[in-house]
Amino acid sequence: CGIVGYLGSNGAYEILIQGLKRLEYRGYDSAGVALVTADGSLNVHKSRGKVSNLEQTAAAGCTAGSIGIAHTRWATHGEPNDINAHPHVSQSGDIALVHNGTIENYAVLKKVLEEHGYTFRSETDTEVLVQLVDYVRSTTPDCSLAEAVREALLQVEGAYAVAVVEKGDPDTLVVARKSSPLVIGVGDGETFIASDATPIIGYTDKVIYLKNNEMAVIRRGEPLSIFEIDSHTPSKISIKQLKLS
Ligand code: GLU
Repeated sequence: CGIVGYLGSNGAYEILIQGLKRLEYRGYDSAGVALVTADGSLNVHKSRGKVSNLEQTAAAGCTAGSIGIAHTRWATHGEPNDINAHPHVSQSGDIALVHNGTIENYAVLKKVLEEHGYTFRSETDTEVLVQLVDYVRSTTPDCSLAEAVREALLQVEGAYAVAVVEKGDPDTLVVARKSSPLVIGVGDGETFIASDATPIIGYTDKVIYLKNNEMAVIRRGEPLSIFEIDSHTPSKISIKQLKLS
């Protein structure tokens, strides 16, 4: 299972698909991709089975956009099928999220969200995360996507690497991790994220290994910012040279 993400000036779709193929060795049962076009529409494609199945599904829809997130799933909660595949989209249709790991307190969070009018489409623990981000975002005045992700993750027990994009915003990619790995590739005017460095090799040799309990906000045309999920303290950014072994 794995995560790939891209924000830059090239078409995200091809980069994400190639990245997923490079993560295939980790094993998976389904795959998916979410892209935000330059005019802000959010397009999600997902499919049970191989990345080539996803490519067939996606070919029928829109694959434009220079920002996106992608996922290969190894099911822990809910059978492998198209609906349970990631990315998951919030009920509002505004937020798309991919997740590796497990959310231990998902049943409690799901119940609370249902009491607030959220209905769930999948059987996954992950869908709780995206609805929670949506809930925080829509009930907190002037709350940015990054702040909503942070507030949501503070309610969560479990292991995660997550990547989040939002409809209407082709310029922001938010990622976070706890117990599951996440690597950021820093290119020239483009940023890559992945579960390990293999999808990034060949694009850039500058990488940041996100530390446990850290999140990163990647915004087009702005310096990367990294901070701890449970504090507003910015983390010191340490860019490493990717070594090929
Ligand atoms: N727990 C999530 C699910 O079952 C994510 C699994 C994964 O890491 O791929 O959908």
